[in-house]
Amino acid sequence: TYLVTGASGQLGQLAVAHLATIVDPSEIIALVRSDAAEAVYAAQGIATRRGDYDDRASLVAAFSGVDRLLFISSSAIGRRVAQHENVVEAAKTAGVGFIAYTSLVGAAAKAMVLGQEHVATEAMLARSGIPHTLIRNGWYIENFLMNLGPALAMGQIFGTSGDGRFSAATRADYAAAAAIVLKGGYDGQTLELGGDDSFTMTEFAQTLSHLSGKPIQFVNIPQDALVSGMVQAGLPGPVAVVLADADARAAEGVLLTEGKRLSRILGRPTTSYGAVLEAALAQPA
Ligand code: NDP
Repeated sequence: TYLVTGASGQLGQLAVAHLATIVDPSEIIALVRSDAAEAVYAAQGIATRRGDYDDRASLVAAFSGVDRLLFISSSAIGRRVAQHENVVEAAKTAGVGFIAYTSLVGAAAKAMVLGQEHVATEAMLARSGIPHTLIRNGWYIENFLMNLGPALAMGQIFGTSGDGRFSAATRADYAAAAAIVLKGGYDGQTLELGGDDSFTMTEFAQTLSHLSGKPIQFVNIPQDALVSGMVQAGLPGPVAVVLADADARAAEGVLLTEGKRLSRILGRPTTSYGAVLEAALAQPA
């Protein structure tokens, strides 16, 4: 059996959906922690188990009889080392045979504050002795859609990534790759994944401008000014600090992955950011 953690999340739902097309759906278990998520999977005929990253015993019970685990990293930034230790230790206790872990591209994981918990988790997996694959994802294209409204309204996109290139890919593409890796064929590997075509924020703004017919510019600002701007826009301070740090490290090129490994796993080109932008612009605001 295959168990997917974070199955109620955006990446997890897409991973379960793709997995159901390549293995027998009766062999899939989605790990959830709410009645609502359980109901969504019940309607699809996918089995669920309850488990919380903060509760190791719940994970040991949930992982019972599981052969292969897709471990989607927690979204609780700052608490992930203890949570991920619970997942890995529970997998060991339950006798899970293989873990695929969604990490962050290596250069970014080393350089970014956001990467520290991934580096720690990769070390835990190495110590565990459980056969595993590191799925080191790059940035999601969807990350760049969050400020689309203000960008279109103001004609400006602010950041501190300078001429740094992003090899971003869609959640759906990363999710499909994760499902394929979980099924098998990549055990023991470290996969650095990103979109086929990289872009700078200047290029992103030009594409958005072209597709929307509105003049839009990328404005590179200092890291501390970006933090203040994000706080003014309503983000909690610690989140703004971590995000601005990531953007500043991206300026150094740590989110560029050129191996086209993702498209080779998928057996097709990755979805381009232009196509994603076009689809987003076609939606009613
Ligand atoms: P989501 O926020 O949509 O999903 C997070 C998932 O983690 C949810 O299923 C959530 O469950 C689950 N979760 C959170 N806390 C716990 C817990 N204590 N116990 C069990 N499950 C928990 O994120 P995405 O699906 O978009 O992304 C998946 C992961 O990828 C993120 O968690 C993050 O680590 C990373 N990420 C990477 C990005 C990138 O650009 N590379 C961008 C954003 C995130 P519930 O629904 O019950 O809360």
